[in-house]
Amino acid sequence: MSLAHGRPYLAIPGPSVMPDAVLRAMHRASPNIYEGAIVEMVAGLIPDLRYVAQTAAAKVAIYIANGHGAWEAALVNVVGEGDKVLVPATGRFAHGWAEMARGLGAEVELIEFGTKSTYDPALVAEALRNDKDRKIKAVLASHVDTATSIRNDLASLRAAMDSTGHPALLMADCVASLGVEEFRMDDWGVDIMVTGSQKGLMVPPGLGFVFFNEKAEARRAEMTRVSRYWDWVPRGKPDFFYEYFGGTAPTHHLYGLRAALDMIREEGIEQIWHRHAVLARTIWAAAEAWGQGGPLTLNVADRGLRSHAVTALRLGAPYGAQLRKWCETEAGVTLGIGLGMAEPDDPMGTGFFRIGHMGHVNTHMILGLLGVLEAGFLSLGIPHGQGALSAAAAEIAKG
Ligand SMILES: *Cc1c(COP(=O)(O)O)cnc(C)c1O
Repeated sequence: MSLAHGRPYLAIPGPSVMPDAVLRAMHRASPNIYEGAIVEMVAGLIPDLRYVAQTAAAKVAIYIANGHGAWEAALVNVVGEGDKVLVPATGRFAHGWAEMARGLGAEVELIEFGTKSTYDPALVAEALRNDKDRKIKAVLASHVDTATSIRNDLASLRAAMDSTGHPALLMADCVASLGVEEFRMDDWGVDIMVTGSQKGLMVPPGLGFVFFNEKAEARRAEMTRVSRYWDWVPRGKPDFFYEYFGGTAPTHHLYGLRAALDMIREEGIEQIWHRHAVLARTIWAAAEAWGQGGPLTLNVADRGLRSHAVTALRLGAPYGAQLRKWCETEAGVTLGIGLGMAEPDDPMGTGFFRIGHMGHVNTHMILGLLGVLEAGFLSLGIPHGQGALSAAAAEIAKG
């Protein structure tokens, strides 16, 4: 008999768990979009978004879009047809952004680093040095690849770029990581950062954000043509309220975002990074213990390269799919599917699963989730090592 009745828990890497405060803030009558409270409210979002991204002066363009929309928005402002982009890839999402660039007529130079390791910054530098006629306009980097759960070091990527004197912009995909992982747009020399509303920002899918600094603005000014809707210029510095969104504002999402940013301000961004770091270590401790006596492995072996937002795990087929089904139907917890993790004997990658632990998650949710996984192993007869839950509790006690 299923014991799933109760509050369900969507533990996939986005959309993430939505706080009641966000839902309550959205539950209201339509506001006047021509004048009044919402105009002021939206202006007030910008400094708080800058705080989350740790930037003093970057502009922010907000689009009614998901992360894919933000990818495209960022590209159309700085990469024209025939320009080139350099894409170091550590999983599915780099390929997705690269495809977007190809769709816009850009030439893509992709450096493949597989699904289990991070960049070699020296190879990125070498590609830039080889670009004698400066065709490469940007390096597209995923901060966290949500499929492999690898976190890349953007500051060292920037240092490698700087060592070459190449003027390419550093564009960072922080859809999975913003509001979760340490990120410092200014200090790390990120020129353009894209994110979405539905992961660390704890708001339903529907808002895409592009942050851009002065260097990116200068590059935008060189473009011969940028499609009107995606042009970040009016959105970043609107003379009229409708220009923020190129039309009607996403009213209710904005109220949700206001509530989420209030929560982020109240907790403090560094504390938020710390909470996610501890909760991630808690999951790793349990997974490592289970792996001692069974097939479970973490996709990323090196702790220093593991994301604090999402964890990709491999159980092997058919266990991965069985476990996901059991957790959802018997225990009310939905785990993420494996993404881009095909193996020769498992073309759909069903042996993989992912745990999303980004945004509105805390100790009892993560310990509960790990308890559910343990119950799933027992119930399905999946071999596993002992002591996972006490190892997890010990990580929490360490803090
Ligand atoms: C989720 C995600 C995206 C895509 O976002 P959508 O809202 O699904 O379009 C892009 N990049 C990363 C790193 C993501 O985690």
